[in-house]
Amino acid sequence: MKIAIISDIHGNLEALNAVLAKIDDLNIQSIYCLGDIVGYGPSPNECVELIRSRNIPSIAGNHDKAVTGELSIESFSQMAKAGVLWTKSIITEENEEYLLNLPYSIQEHDIVFVHSSPDHPEEFRYLLSPEDARESFDYFSNPLCVVGHTHRPVVFCEDYTTKEIRRDKKFIVNVGSVGQPRDGNWKACFIIMDTEQYTIEFIRVEYDVETVHKKIKAIGLPQKLADRLLAGM
Ligand code: ZN
Repeated sequence: MKIAIISDIHGNLEALNAVLAKIDDLNIQSIYCLGDIVGYGPSPNECVELIRSRNIPSIAGNHDKAVTGELSIESFSQMAKAGVLWTKSIITEENEEYLLNLPYSIQEHDIVFVHSSPDHPEEFRYLLSPEDARESFDYFSNPLCVVGHTHRPVVFCEDYTTKEIRRDKKFIVNVGSVGQPRDGNWKACFIIMDTEQYTIEFIRVEYDVETVHKKIKAIGLPQKLADRLLAGM
């Protein structure tokens, strides 16, 4: 069975539409979302409604929980704060209720799905390096844990060297970001996993980034939030 795993949409409807169209083209029925559906981007309600209408199971990201008020934005950057406050001002009651009910993790297909890290997922740690990921391997027993949060696609193995996932070792795979990639590539990122062959593939999809850029500027969110999308940073 093939499944698609998406993360960090951040209110970028154009990127989400492009990714879902690609997933449909590949005839993949089963999609999971690792959270941060909202925050930063100009179309939070539309993104939540699309995820809901397609019955895509999702977990909670830090921006989702900041918009509901469950997580303090004290430690957020100025840009992230601005995005959360604007999103709070326009999120519908129904969509906020949906965000409130998102769980912090799901386990299916022998995979642990979390937003940031399998250890204390509600603390939203950043796994940027193999050293950051080191202690996380003790917190799951399945071979595979998938994460988002850093917006940078990467594979960490518990032995530090193996790059291709396999069942006899533990891996943490960061699926990258749909709506705000930060690895220097502006194209939307997600993964396809073949649960029988036990392989993953990172997919990049072009989307109408100019339209999102214009929308962010029209709302009056920080210019840098618009510009970073063009650079993928
Ligand atoms: Zn995020």
